Amino acid sequence: MPASKPATRQIVAALLSPAFPALILLAFLGIAIALKLGADNQHNHQLQATLAAEAQALARDLERRFDNHVQALTRMANRLVVTPDTPEDAWRADARNYLADFGSYQAIEWIDGDYLIRWLEPVNGNGQAAGFNVAFSSSRRQALARAAATGDLDTSGVIELAQGGTGLVIYAPVGAGDANRGFIAGVFKMADLASSLMTERARNVFRIDIHENGRLAYRLGPEAAGQDAYRQQVTVNLPNIEWRVTLAPSTAWLASRHSNLPWIAFSVLLVVGILVSLSTLLIQLVLKRHQDLLKTRSELDQEIRQRQLIQQDLARLESTDTLTGLANRRFFMEDLSHALSLADRHQRQLALIMIDLDRFQMLNDSLGHQFGDELLIKVSERLNALSDERVLVAYSGGDEFMVCQQHVDAIDDVIHLLGQLQKCFAEPFSIQRQIHGITATMGIAVYPQSGLDADELLRNADIALYRAKESGRNTYQFYTEGMQDREVRRLELDKDLNLALEQDQFLLHLQPKLDLDTLKMDSVEALIRWQHPTRGLVPPFEFIPLAEESGRITDIGRWVVMAACRQLAAWSQGPLAHLRIAVNLSGRELDDEHLIDNIQQALAEHNVPANRLEVELTEEIFIQNIERNRNQLVRLHELGVHLAIDDFGVGYSSLAYLRDFPVDLLKIDRSFITNVTDRHDDAVITRAVINLAHNLGVKVVAEGVETEQQLQFLRQHRCDYAQGYLISRPVSAEQLEKLLLDDYSPLRQD
Ligand code: C2E
Ligand code: MG
Ligand code: MG
Repeated sequence: MPASKPATRQIVAALLSPAFPALILLAFLGIAIALKLGADNQHNHQLQATLAAEAQALARDLERRFDNHVQALTRMANRLVVTPDTPEDAWRADARNYLADFGSYQAIEWIDGDYLIRWLEPVNGNGQAAGFNVAFSSSRRQALARAAATGDLDTSGVIELAQGGTGLVIYAPVGAGDANRGFIAGVFKMADLASSLMTERARNVFRIDIHENGRLAYRLGPEAAGQDAYRQQVTVNLPNIEWRVTLAPSTAWLASRHSNLPWIAFSVLLVVGILVSLSTLLIQLVLKRHQDLLKTRSELDQEIRQRQLIQQDLARLESTDTLTGLANRRFFMEDLSHALSLADRHQRQLALIMIDLDRFQMLNDSLGHQFGDELLIKVSERLNALSDERVLVAYSGGDEFMVCQQHVDAIDDVIHLLGQLQKCFAEPFSIQRQIHGITATMGIAVYPQSGLDADELLRNADIALYRAKESGRNTYQFYTEGMQDREVRRLELDKDLNLALEQDQFLLHLQPKLDLDTLKMDSVEALIRWQHPTRGLVPPFEFIPLAEESGRITDIGRWVVMAACRQLAAWSQGPLAHLRIAVNLSGRELDDEHLIDNIQQALAEHNVPANRLEVELTEEIFIQNIERNRNQLVRLHELGVHLAIDDFGVGYSSLAYLRDFPVDLLKIDRSFITNVTDRHDDAVITRAVINLAHNLGVKVVAEGVETEQQLQFLRQHRCDYAQGYLISRPVSAEQLEKLLLDDYSPLRQD
């Protein structure tokens, strides 16, 4: 849900904002204030209710007590009605009883029909009231007259008493109407009345205001009291007057009722609010810190990941060859060491295979580096298809590949892999829109028998490869015991080859070709020999490949041509002037652009006609770098030099080149001739080659003729020339001269 993500992020941002704890504090403050106000309100209500209840209780109490006094006075009045001639003493005794019973009267009086106070009790303190006319005002007189007429009770209201002070008088009529004999009056001083009618507690706690007919008639209680906000007013109904009594609580009472709870609740909530907002702030800080840490951590993780990727890339670059994408030599050697330690621990065999592409150098030189690179890439692709957890394929540089095969249980495993490797070259390669058949030669060293460490295995696989190359290409060779010695010899020869030319250690041996038609010898092949100062006569197969590899072959070839021309010149004036000398040219020599000039120069220098010279080239030269080689050979041909194809039949199946090149002679390879009389297929091939050559107008030479039967066969099938030990081994010029001048012919007897 992508839409909810920003919303969640906004909520998180709001929760982490500094305003959030402030909001929490404000919320708690609001709640605390509301709670405090509510509690105060509640408290006030309670106070008001308590006060109202107190006021009501006070009013009812006042009414009840007043009623008691009224009833007592009424009873006294009634008794006087019943016994009108009650003696004064009896009345006084009665009055004193009442006084003793109630205790709150200032005085009890009998007032006659003329409103004069006649008797009063107690006399003490009230003396000045005796004989006082209580109808001292018209309103009083009217009220008393009405009471006398009706027999209803009259109350004076708060008045100034004749005895002094403020007070209240209740008049209970003694009989009604005409039978009225005055009143029994109860006089109360307000101070005494209040103190008797109201409880001590009420008097101390409340200020009590008594309003009569709207005016303040009496005030009781502490003057300081009077929290007007809390005052309560009640009506007290007395006989024919009405009081409004106002109750105001004293500060002390209010204080005693005061509750700290609202404040405590307020403070507690405020403190809680502060704590919660502080905690939120703290949590925010912790979360922010945590977020920062997470961010830093993810940045670090990213950094680490990038570094790891870079390291992986570097490791891959370090271990991979950039052109072919295969493991490079360094990585291969590390892996080989590791594989060797595993093989050692598990007592297993391991094979190291060196692969060399045949003719790669020549192709690379002639068709260009671009071509070479593409070929290497294509070969790598095919080889790499064989790599798995047991087989590591690496590119070693140049035209060399290396393969390490682990877990070798038997040598058959290696042979199987070699078969697969050879299959990689079975199909031709299409490079730059041309098809090229490429082969490979391999050298194999097997651990532990061919070496115990990586370097030794590598050296020995290299030696085996060299041997394989020597014995012809497109093959493989396992390293064997004696190879090491031969390798040492090879390296020494290579070193000594440096001096061979300048110290004039080469010589030419000559081998004649017999014309099977005329039985004459008018052509000889020049075969080079190296007269080594310590090793004696070294045959060409031991040093020509070395010279080809190092490039010294160009100089050696030039020497051969020069020596042949010198020999031709030497013969030119004698009986052997008709002889032609054939020299062997290797492919590398043909790459030398000065080759033709050099030959021409040598011929000219010795004043030798070009048709006295013949060059022998192996088939592959006609296949490789066709354009360039063709130009060189056409130039040679135009010069008049004869052209022969050496070792015909072993190299290539294509014969098209025979048509394109100016060939004079075909030399059937010795391998066909050796068994030509025993093997049917060799005989068939030989016959076919002879016919083919003749059809193309080319002459044929059979190489390696060693027996009479072979010679017979060749003659029978109209082969043009024969060369071989049967006729003569390659010999020195002197020996040859002797041979030819003796007119030797192996067929002379025929
Ligand atoms: P190649 O040109 O095919 O020479 C023929 C080889 O066969 C010679 O070996 C020769 O001695 C040998 N041979 C001749 N008849 C017989 C025979 O009846 N039986 C046997 N078993 N062998 C016979 P050689 O002299 O050792 O030369 C080997 C190769 O070295 C030559 O093969 C040629 O390719 C190369 N070579 C020789 N001289 C030169 C040279 O001056 N320059 C170059 N580039 N290569 C040369
Ligand atoms: Mg030859
Ligand atoms: Mg040959």
